[in-house]
Amino acid sequence: MTAAALELDHVDAAYGPFRALFDVSLRVDPGEAVALVGAHGAGKSTIARVASGLLPPTSGTIHVDGTDLTGRAPFHYARAGIAHAPEGRSTFASLTVTENLELAFRAARPKRDVAADMKEAFRLFPKLGERHDQLAGTLSGGEQRMLALARVLVLRPRLLVADELSLGLAPIVTAEVYRVLGQVRDTGTALLVVEQHLDHALAIADRVVVLQQGEVTFDGPPDRLGDLSSTVLLPDGSPSRAT
Ligand code: ATP
Repeated sequence: MTAAALELDHVDAAYGPFRALFDVSLRVDPGEAVALVGAHGAGKSTIARVASGLLPPTSGTIHVDGTDLTGRAPFHYARAGIAHAPEGRSTFASLTVTENLELAFRAARPKRDVAADMKEAFRLFPKLGERHDQLAGTLSGGEQRMLALARVLVLRPRLLVADELSLGLAPIVTAEVYRVLGQVRDTGTALLVVEQHLDHALAIADRVVVLQQGEVTFDGPPDRLGDLSSTVLLPDGSPSRAT
């Protein structure tokens, strides 16, 4: 069997005395898209942090492409090809779109062909091309999210951990962001998509993992979740379906 792009095995994680994850096992295969869904506070962002090395687990292991990275610093995860697009905007407000992108591309690999990377970023997100000279701080929320994504997507990560991409975005912008994610997946990048709103996440997902109070309660194909969603997702406040 080929090694998983990412494998969490019996992972517990905590913030000081507060335990946030309980015995979580989760696998994302190369090129696979997995949606991680659950109510507020279920532990989705905590899994995203563990998967990119930002929060070391208190027990269990994390393998990236078959290599044990448990307890290693986040840069080892980045080097192994894990990119984390966190909640929020994560761009430099006082730099232009082009400067933000250049900084990210040069930091990732000093010898990269930055002009080619820039072209690819503007191909994926034409809106950013139109606004290449504009300060990032003056972009709309959706454009800032696209800029944050372009910074990591152009580098063709093995696995993108995308945390709440739809947060605060208009439906039309969310649709655009997911369209690009679909393209990126089609070129072989695996996705771990953390979402409150189910529709977009389920549309792109090969597999869905449901988290409730720090535990995995469902792991299977999206069409099976359809029968279970009322019982699995809704009782404790729940992710909502975007309308
Ligand atoms: P949301 O959809 O609201 O972002 P989530 O499913 O991503 O929720 P997490 O952010 O992973 O949930 O939080 C899981 C639990 O860990 C919550 O009870 C939260 O209060 C707690 N938690 C998260 N971050 C911290 C922190 N830095 N310190 C202490 N507790 C935290």
